[in-house]
Amino acid sequence: MNNVITRFAPSPTGYLHIGNIRTALYSWLYARKNNGYFFLRIEDTDINRNNKKYISYIFYILEWLGLYWDNKPIYQSERIDFYKEIIYYMLDKNLVYKCYCDHNRLKKIREICLLNKIKPRYDNYCREKNFNIKNKPYVIRFKNFLKGKVLFKDIVFGDIKINNNELDDFIILRSNGIPTYNFCVVIDDYNMSITHVIRGEDHINNTFKQINIIKSLNYNIPNYIHLPLILNENGNKLSKRNISSNIDKYIESGFLPESILNALLRLGWSYKNNEIFHVHEMKRLFNLTNIKKSSSILNFKKLLWINKYYISNISYKKLFIYLKNFLILNNIKIPKLDNFSEIVSFILPRSFLLKDIYDFCIIFDNNYFFLDRNKMSEFYKNIFIKLLFFFKKKFCMLYLWNINNINKIIFNSFKIFVTLNKKYIYKVLRFFLTGKICTVNISTIILFLGKSKVEFRLNYSIKKLSNFKFFL
Ligand code: GLU
Repeated sequence: MNNVITRFAPSPTGYLHIGNIRTALYSWLYARKNNGYFFLRIEDTDINRNNKKYISYIFYILEWLGLYWDNKPIYQSERIDFYKEIIYYMLDKNLVYKCYCDHNRLKKIREICLLNKIKPRYDNYCREKNFNIKNKPYVIRFKNFLKGKVLFKDIVFGDIKINNNELDDFIILRSNGIPTYNFCVVIDDYNMSITHVIRGEDHINNTFKQINIIKSLNYNIPNYIHLPLILNENGNKLSKRNISSNIDKYIESGFLPESILNALLRLGWSYKNNEIFHVHEMKRLFNLTNIKKSSSILNFKKLLWINKYYISNISYKKLFIYLKNFLILNNIKIPKLDNFSEIVSFILPRSFLLKDIYDFCIIFDNNYFFLDRNKMSEFYKNIFIKLLFFFKKKFCMLYLWNINNINKIIFNSFKIFVTLNKKYIYKVLRFFLTGKICTVNISTIILFLGKSKVEFRLNYSIKKLSNFKFFL
């Protein structure tokens, strides 16, 4: 028997958010670190809120991140009969009971509780009645312990307890025949021999209920590791509806899996003062003792910084695969450039996102070159046509195409066009060669464009600018 078995148990009721994924990462890491198993369980018993697209999304994200699970995923929806068998066994053993209280009665109990300023709870009306009424819908409730307390040692939060009289006889089988979350979790964790339950802090209240079911079935209690919340930059809880916590937005804008994993690892776990952890290091160093108790804040700037680090530090081969996938994902054509790898290597150390690399590359593809009429209107003056003619002549005559010679031509223009500010000359050159107002150093761009594209674009610009004048 292996000593560490963890699981990730998402409910497909919405898109996974950053918090869910961190839970998956920690569970995966802890299993890998200990040569254990990491299982995936799809908790799809909520028939009204489940959606197949969310299940595909779970697979997509875990695979994108490389968090591969062991064995086949378990679907709770396929185990309903099995859960029910156990529930009816518990009914035989008097550990649970049928409750026939209807909606109106439950509503009344709730109102009375609220009136008396106590937490709404079921009043155990059906508990000892042993009702068995034919053709009347019922739910099955767990007979919670009436005395004592539930106590467990959480690996992150330490001792946590609650008095049993604060818990009520909660439902484990709904009237539609579907067992509830707290029950299924206990049965599955036991059947899957889960040793470490790693999940969000918001499940602590469920843990009490689950431990009581475990006790009544004489199962072993697993280790619990509840993870503190992740907050967004405004200090609010992340939710499945919150855009900034949706990971596909990060994928689409060109984050790498390595940086997401690294950033998520650091959200609540630390090792010395290290910021960068490659996956093999995470697997070696991860432990449960260094998980922080306090909530963490998702810091977008830091995420960008980590992404920049990985973009310039992973192998070219890997980067090109990511870049290709990124372009396919965003439905973008791969730019056709002879000196593509040279251009990419130049922009890599300056890129925060894969999108930055793409945005830079397309500057050199003539298919994407165009001059916006509104922006061009700023340059409607004869002197700019003259300036463009000057550059055209000089660049066409240049045979040794290197940065020094390119700079010489630009410096020369300063001497000839003395009435124009130097910065302005750069601006003109940048706009008419790229169609953009800001780019990296224009001499480098000219170098990468090469003579024929520079000639083509200057001719095009001269023509456009002259026509523009004519039409005004
Ligand atoms: N299905 C639960 C959720 O998505 C997780 C349950 C668990 O980890 O025990 O929040």
